[in-house]
Amino acid sequence: MRGHNLRGELDVFLAETGQELIGFRRDLHMHPELAFAEYRTTQRVADRLIAAGLTPSVLPRGTGLICEVGSGDGPTVALRADIDALPVPDEKDVPYSSTVPGVCHACGHDVHTTVLLGTSLFLARQAEAGLLPGRVRLIFQPAEELPGGALEVMAAGGISGVDRIFGLHCDPRVDVGKVGLKTGPITSACDKVFIRVSGPGGHTARPHLTADLVFALAKILTELPAALSRRIDPRSSLSLVWGRVEAGSVANAIPDEGLAEGTVRCLDEQAWHAAPDMIKALLESVAGAYGVEARMDYVRGVPPVVNDEVSVQMLAEAAGGVLGEGSAEPTQQSLGGEDFGWYLESIPGAFARLGTRTPGTPHPGDIHQGTFDVDESCIAAGVRFLAATALTALWEGQRPSASEHVAGAIA
Ligand SMILES: [Zn+2]
Ligand SMILES: [Zn+2]
Repeated sequence: MRGHNLRGELDVFLAETGQELIGFRRDLHMHPELAFAEYRTTQRVADRLIAAGLTPSVLPRGTGLICEVGSGDGPTVALRADIDALPVPDEKDVPYSSTVPGVCHACGHDVHTTVLLGTSLFLARQAEAGLLPGRVRLIFQPAEELPGGALEVMAAGGISGVDRIFGLHCDPRVDVGKVGLKTGPITSACDKVFIRVSGPGGHTARPHLTADLVFALAKILTELPAALSRRIDPRSSLSLVWGRVEAGSVANAIPDEGLAEGTVRCLDEQAWHAAPDMIKALLESVAGAYGVEARMDYVRGVPPVVNDEVSVQMLAEAAGGVLGEGSAEPTQQSLGGEDFGWYLESIPGAFARLGTRTPGTPHPGDIHQGTFDVDESCIAAGVRFLAATALTALWEGQRPSASEHVAGAIA
């Protein structure tokens, strides 16, 4: 890696700023905000960037912001962090627990925000010293969990002129100080299915005179995933899992309506395209057998995040340079969805997993749980990794100068 002194410069920066960053993350953790309501978070980030001499611009809807560091003709590399929290109650007993009932940073986006903030401050310092060979676009994206924030950023021109984009996500299965990398798809498609069944309703003494809606709904809940597993190529790992089901109000009345909601996750694009029609046909056949009406709304979600090979090499080089040899380990494609996939449909880039587990922890818990927390030294590791990634991409992305172009054309 060029810039042999980068490690030392990061050491100095983090010795000065590391504690502030941990405090910043704890403050965000105590004040989590849901998708498209991240006003305070946006303000906190903007204030700190302005204090560092940068000029952030808030996105049109009022949450999330974009800020550019550096100038000149070099390439433009974007770094993206998501800033929203989840409608999940905080179950941790820590001094920085969420102060908002029913909302917490269970997906670690407070860490992503803080890592990108630290990286921004470091890169601003590099730019002042004339050490930034291009521009870095900092994207603090709202509403990843909705999802929709990535589209908001893109609609605001957030990735226009960007040559390459990088992002990362907390991973409690990876030790702190390490990162997980993968070329090709690293997350999956994730859609939502909403099913509503209806029938005449009646007395539970006489199910034969009406349609036994609860029984039919139960059949739908178990038969649809089972039948799908036999109709779709198992290699596509398509899975339909229910998250909500509702029907009835008393023990002795068959209700006239019920609903089921779930997600469809899929590793494979072909199966992803076939899924809605197949689920609809299966639903109609099961519902028909029990005499109930069924309606389905299928809501397309995010595409898989497909990492570009060159960008993954840059991540690996950056990790080796500032986190040490062996710090980059292979990771698997997850069935989680991530709206970073939308950026990668337009420009090359890569998404990495940031280790957050204290080494030796047997059951680190998982994201989207109210108990999820990180080893906070992941913040410094994340800053090192993301800053080195941006610089590596800038160094390696230098466009040939005009004279080289001419020489090349003549040759
Ligand atoms: Zn999440
Ligand atoms: Zn997340």
